[in-house]
Formats: sequence, C-alpha cells, structure tokens
Amino acid sequence: MTKKLLKTWQKPSITPHQLGTLNKFGRPIGTDYVDKIDGVAVEDLLREYGSPLFVISEKRLRDNVRQLKRTFESRYQPVIHAWSYKTNYLNAVCATLHQEGSWAEVVSAFEYEKARSLGVPGSRILFNGPHKPRAILERCVAEGAQIHIDNLDELHLLNSVARELDKVTAVTLRLNLETGYTEEWSRFGFNLESGAALDAAIQISNSSHLKLSGLHSHIGTFILDARAYQVQVEKMIEFMESIEQQNYAVIESLDIGGGFASQNAVQGLYLPAEQVVPPMTQYADAICSTLLKKTANREAQGKPRLTLILESGRAVIDDAEVLVSSVVASKRLPDGRASYVMDAGVNLLFTAFWYDHRVRPTRPLQGGAEETVLYGPLCMNIDIIRQSISMQPLSVGDSLVISPVGAYNNTQWMQFIEYRPNVVMVDEKEQVSVVRRNETLTDINEFESLPAHLNGSFKFSE
Ligand SMILES: *Cc1c(COP(=O)(O)O)cnc(C)c1O
Repeated sequence: MTKKLLKTWQKPSITPHQLGTLNKFGRPIGTDYVDKIDGVAVEDLLREYGSPLFVISEKRLRDNVRQLKRTFESRYQPVIHAWSYKTNYLNAVCATLHQEGSWAEVVSAFEYEKARSLGVPGSRILFNGPHKPRAILERCVAEGAQIHIDNLDELHLLNSVARELDKVTAVTLRLNLETGYTEEWSRFGFNLESGAALDAAIQISNSSHLKLSGLHSHIGTFILDARAYQVQVEKMIEFMESIEQQNYAVIESLDIGGGFASQNAVQGLYLPAEQVVPPMTQYADAICSTLLKKTANREAQGKPRLTLILESGRAVIDDAEVLVSSVVASKRLPDGRASYVMDAGVNLLFTAFWYDHRVRPTRPLQGGAEETVLYGPLCMNIDIIRQSISMQPLSVGDSLVISPVGAYNNTQWMQFIEYRPNVVMVDEKEQVSVVRRNETLTDINEFESLPAHLNGSFKFSE
C-alpha cells in the first residue's frame, strides 16, 4: 500500500514580495557579502592598513598561473609563460610569478630595468613595445634578452648595436595580422598580409649580426572568441613555413601574446562574465590543437620543436586582487536615485571606465534594494565606480569589496587629488604583508623643487 503524502491544510495568506532577494532585477548585492579575504577579516585589514586598501591573494595568483600552465602543458609542450609587467608590476606580484617559473615580458626600458633589479636574467626577458632607445638595446644585446622587433627603424638600430658589440643576437619578429574575429591591431609589429613581415624577415636574414629565431603576435586584449587564436596560430605557422622554405630563418619559438579574458564584466555586454568568458581550456584547445596539427612533421624534417610562449596578463592576476573602499557620505540625487561617495575612485580604479566591477558588502545588508550610483572621492564628474547597481542601503563607514581589480589598476592608477593607499598581500599562511606602502606628502614633494626666487618668498598678512 502506498502512503499518500497529504499536506495539512493551511489558511491562505499573502506574503509581500521580499525586497533584497532575487527579483526581476537580478540579485541585489547585499545577499552576497565577503567579510574575509583568504581567511583574514576585512575589518582587521582596514583597521591595520587603512581605507581604501588593495588586497592581493598570493594563493589565487599562484593557483591561476599553475592552472594556466597545466591547461596548456597537458595539450602541448614545451610551454613558457612570460609575465606581462604592464598588467601589474608590483614587485611582490612579479616575484611570485617568477618563483612559479614565469619569465618577464616587458615593454619599456623602465620595465626591463625593473625585471633585472628583481633578479630576472636578461635571457629570461622578452622585450616588446614600440620604444626601445639605443641605450637599452645595448644593454639587452649584452645581457642576451629576447628582443621582439616592432618596426624597421628599430631593426636597423638593433643591427648597428649588435654589429658594434660584435654579438650575433637572436631576435623575434612581432607580427600583426587579421584574424576575422578581432579588431585588427595593426600598429604594433609588421603586417603579415601586406608583405611587410616578409620584407623584415629578409632584412634580418641579410644581417650578419641578427638571427631570426622567434615569431610573436599579440592580437588584442579581452578576446572572447577562442577561434581568433586558431586563425592566429595558423597564419603564424604559414608565415614560418614560407620563410623557412626560403632559408631566411629557422624558427624555435612561437609567442602568441596575451589577451585571454578574465572574469570581469565588460560594460555594454549585458551578460555576466561567467556566460561570455571562455574557459581557459577553450583557448588552449584552439591554440594547441592547431599547433599540433600544423607542426606534426616538423621534427621529421630536422627542425626544432616549437616552444609555445604565452604572455597572458589579465587572466592571471585580475581575480587575485580586490580593492576595499569605504562609504564616506550618502546623497539622494535629484532624480531619486541613491548614491554614495566612496574613498576610492577612478584614480585607483582605472578599469572602472570599461568594466562593471563586482561590488560586495562586508556584512549582510538589510532593507530594500534600489538603484544606486557609487561615486569616487575626486572632485571630477567622471569619477564613478558603478553607474547603476541594485543595492540595499549602506551607512557611512560601511565598506565594499570591489573585484576583480588585479589587472592594469596598480600600473595605470594615478596620483591625482588623493594619495595612493597601501597594497597588501595575504600569503598562504594568512600572513599579511604591505607590498606597497601608502604615499605621503613627503613622497610627492620629493620630486619637486622650488626655484630660489620662489623659495620662502611669499607672506600673507593675517
Ligand atoms: C599587454 C600585453 C600582454 C598582456 O595582455 P593581457 O590582455 O593582459 O593578457 C601580452 N603581450 C603584450 C605584447 C602586451 O602588450
């Protein structure tokens, strides 16, 4: 006999739609809060290091780069990851990645010097970028750095430097090409379709001091369609085969640049990052399967197995760092919207111009959610962290955790109107270290000097 599950009768009632839970506007932010970062209470961090505060997770950073390498190495070998300094060149970030075996990818004399000062040998530095003055090229040639040639003037300058130092220098040619899936970046390197790249390869082969051994291209950033990489690798290999057939070069490495998207919401996409950002495996499949297919006969022909070089920046660091910012004032706008003034703005969060960052409170919020604007502290109309977010009311002193912020903020931030705050790193033992201390007036004044006739020259009568 089956037992019938009967519900007991209940008097009908009307339950008001509960504000603050999932509704037709999505989930308001207050239901999802973070009070700890890698085991450390946000409240303690703010008390100790002040607000606003950048917090880096060493564990997440290591996990990300390990996962990147695992994903690629399980499909193709050998693989090298070179850390894109401009994405985040805080020494603690670079040192963590170098410890994980990543090389340095730099785009200026300053970044080259920074990598060297951290102890990266020249031979583990890839030098990209359109501006490489003679002095730095001399240092690179002497130290055996891998120079990625951007233009013909640079090619000729490098040739004369190598001749002067009488050193045969291995170089990489930076290519730009059309993938059909990305906006074409034609300003860096030599164009493939126009024949400029072939011309450059011939010029290098005619030099007795330059030896072309690598091909590079970086097709863009935040690339959401993995097929772009498939076309890129196909075109690079086609080019490689044509220059090898004509004995202009023997290629040892293929550098496909960076550009993998991070879990961040690009403004105007209207879909959450989880739905539009391809998983790393998809990028890896597109790149590695093409590489395997197109280079299968290479070793049989006595040619070196290609080293695959990745320069992934944002996908490695972005979600390993958050910015904690506190509410300094609340203000009702004339159109009825709620708004808050925060102590961090676009001076610290440059990427707020194109991302809708995730914003989470550090405690569960009560009350009804409403459309809210989050302003920064600058006396500038453009200083907006979130133009429109559904959120429950906050109080002065409340803090918000903004994420992911690891990519391009600690390099593109500016000392503008406000001081830059502390950056801390939480290690795998939940220990916190200041990795860049907050600025003071003394720091900033140190760069300046007053001409003698202005020094102590004015007095105001009281
Ligand atoms: C900026 C840059 C990268 C890193 O790009 P992401 O989009 O952050 O992965 C890699 N290579 C070169 C040459 C770059 O300029």
